[in-house]
Amino acid sequence: MRLLLVEDNQRLAETTKEGLEKESFTVDWFDTVGESEAAIETVSYDAIVLDLGLPDGDGMDILKQLRARKSSTPVLILTARDGVDDRVKGLDGGADDYLLKPFAMAELIARVRALLRRPGGALGLALTAGNVSFDTAAREVRVDENVISVSRREMGVLEQLMRRYGRVVPKDILEDKLYGFGEEVTSNSVEVHISRLRKRLSKANADISVHTLRGVGYLLSEDD
Ligand code: CA
Repeated sequence: MRLLLVEDNQRLAETTKEGLEKESFTVDWFDTVGESEAAIETVSYDAIVLDLGLPDGDGMDILKQLRARKSSTPVLILTARDGVDDRVKGLDGGADDYLLKPFAMAELIARVRALLRRPGGALGLALTAGNVSFDTAAREVRVDENVISVSRREMGVLEQLMRRYGRVVPKDILEDKLYGFGEEVTSNSVEVHISRLRKRLSKANADISVHTLRGVGYLLSEDD
């Protein structure tokens, strides 16, 4: 799950980013309208947490640009202003939800998850493939009935593969979902996560496995 966080209060942004990352989201953080709009053009985010008062303009402009591009990415606006006007303007402008500052981290996480669980949202139903199931809300992977331990990034890889079960997933799609801007992606990072994931699945007697299509991507399918 890759989120965009737009917030110009550095301390608040850092705490929020950290809190979301602990919940296994990949977070890109920007503090201006300009950078955020550029990011939206290159990355398909699963959800956006948007502050309205920004140094180079109004967060509403980001929302307008997004909706003008027919993007249905869920947007949660953050506002310190208690004017009802801002909230109404935000919701009218295509925001999905709002949160007043100051907010509790747990509340923000719950609201973001709720947006992702909406029909068409990134957190859908539980995913299943073979004897493996993945509860995308609880972030839990099971083989038969047993929960297996999987790292945050391995889980991200598995989720993308399960969402496209039986189809090839290009390597750059995995990189795009797993790493935020400014995070170093070494050329073999994805391979490393795939290789660990393979071992975990096989050790847990999963009846599906990850196949490599050299130079193309990866495919999750039943064992032969
Ligand atoms: Ca602000």
